[in-house]
Amino acid sequence: MKVGLEVHRQLDTAHKLFCDCPTILTTAPPTIRFQRRLRPTQSELGQIDPAVLFEFHRGRTVIYEADNDTSCLVEMDEEPPHPLNPEAVDVSLMISLLFKAVTMDEVHIMRKVVIDGSNTTGFQRTSIIALNGHLDVEGKRIPIQQVSLEEDAGRKVAEAKNSVTFQLDRLGVPLIEITTGPVIQNPEDASKIALAIGRVLRATRKVKRGLGTIRQDLNISIAKGSLIEIKGVQELELVSKVVELEVKRQLTLLEIRDELHKRGVHAQDLEDHIIDLTEILKSSKSKIIQSALQKGGKVLGVRLTGFNNLLGRELIPNVRFGTEMSKRAGFWGKVGGIFHSDELPAYGIEKPEKEQVALRLECSQNDAFVIVCDDEKSGRDALQAVSDRAREALVGVPEETRTANPDGTTSYMRPRPGAARMYPETDVPPVKVTPHRLEKIRSNLPKMQEELTKELTARYGIGQKLAEQLVNSEYSSIFEEIVTSSKITAPTYVATILTESLKSLEREKVPVANLSEKQLKAAFDLVEKGKTAKESVPEILKWLAQHPEADPQSAVQDLKLGMLSRTELEEIIRKLVSENWPASMGKLTNLVMGEVRGRADPKLVIELLMHHALAGSQNK
Ligand SMILES: [Zn+2]
Repeated sequence: MKVGLEVHRQLDTAHKLFCDCPTILTTAPPTIRFQRRLRPTQSELGQIDPAVLFEFHRGRTVIYEADNDTSCLVEMDEEPPHPLNPEAVDVSLMISLLFKAVTMDEVHIMRKVVIDGSNTTGFQRTSIIALNGHLDVEGKRIPIQQVSLEEDAGRKVAEAKNSVTFQLDRLGVPLIEITTGPVIQNPEDASKIALAIGRVLRATRKVKRGLGTIRQDLNISIAKGSLIEIKGVQELELVSKVVELEVKRQLTLLEIRDELHKRGVHAQDLEDHIIDLTEILKSSKSKIIQSALQKGGKVLGVRLTGFNNLLGRELIPNVRFGTEMSKRAGFWGKVGGIFHSDELPAYGIEKPEKEQVALRLECSQNDAFVIVCDDEKSGRDALQAVSDRAREALVGVPEETRTANPDGTTSYMRPRPGAARMYPETDVPPVKVTPHRLEKIRSNLPKMQEELTKELTARYGIGQKLAEQLVNSEYSSIFEEIVTSSKITAPTYVATILTESLKSLEREKVPVANLSEKQLKAAFDLVEKGKTAKESVPEILKWLAQHPEADPQSAVQDLKLGMLSRTELEEIIRKLVSENWPASMGKLTNLVMGEVRGRADPKLVIELLMHHALAGSQNK
């Protein structure tokens, strides 16, 4: 097995890559809406990229949404791009130097054809910043093949059968791309290396954090398999699982190939002879068939020679070989789904009907068939895609771009793009990287993990382990900001909340990544100002993660975690004393503290308790 990683991370620059818009996402409703249709063109060599043709074939209308605070005419492709953002170039050069890569003398912008609609221009601007670096991870040297700077794409906010909607706020946000060599040999290492790359990027303090700001792509191949590109693994924890499942998928596809060879199947046996089965199935109880026929559709079928019992074979959990075919049919024919012989009788199609279909398609015992019901054109396109996929099974694993699902499985996304998709950007001049500029960056390189850990323990008196956790977390810079601006909150307390408490919230599936820096700081500020107790902070953070737009003050109100007024506290004490009298001072203190859960100053509790206990005893 060979795995290469592509780590993408948004840079936290003041402006976007080719205009002066900020690099933040909007929460306001859009004020601008427009739509486009994109079409493919030939490259200079006269080729059309298969991935591009695929998107064109989907024939979708693209709807764009934007507002004036986060987008301008550049994002809408109504104004040429401005010169490359120098801050983003500096950060990219800094990252390149941290990976000890060889930086380019000149940065040239290229256009990479993308017509899924996520870019209004029909291409994504990208540039190589450096080549041939490395990173040492647990004693192993991992080659960093390339450091690139590119523009992030529009943010998909809605998708329907014939349209897709993108918000333009994210389009043009600078994105750094780190590509490792294909040297990773086991799933756990893939996770570790992704983590280590993340640490280097965070050391610059110029990258964004939180869900959606980091995306990992994986290039996975095994011996005799194919190079499969898996896009959009958002969580690091998933990397090793995705790798494991992809290897399993490829191995099973190779088993299927071997089985087909054993059965003596050849490509010419899989010519797509599509047969009209409407007559046989016109009175079927299948609701899907009946509804398609009512709309004037047809039932079409194709024989898959030698595929009996292979379509039902599970490649990875919940993904059968038939599922892969169904995805292809869905993309190329835009049909809702297919029926294959391994899963029949089912879905209202009965055994005699299955037998008649098999007879009509001249299936022998080793053969399988696929049927589809839709309008004739869609049905034919779908079955042709099915036959294509069947022929690919004879070769083994088809090269594909796949997309990662949240459970670690992957689905077919599109064919893999070829080399014909890149050409030079003529609107943006190249940028010279002078030795002077490079030297200036080199002399200001950020500190790396070990050094930072030492600094945190020395400067704030927190333990070694806690400091390491902080450096490994996303939160070490926020930690320093909170601690230096605070007079009363202890560094160890802040560090523990930012590491252990957030980790345990994460384990409870609380969406911790939603927490903004502003919210984190404001939550500690409430403690600082005496508006809530230290003990309440984890609960407040949990609430905030679930209400990303809210401010911490509303968390305090909603959770009733505000500090008790003297009168409220007196009321609680009076009640507890009278209910439990006589009792020792220790027992009463415990009762009161349990009741107020940190919402009162312990000193005040004791003072009031003494007073009331005294009064209580006198009353007796
Ligand atoms: Zn703009």
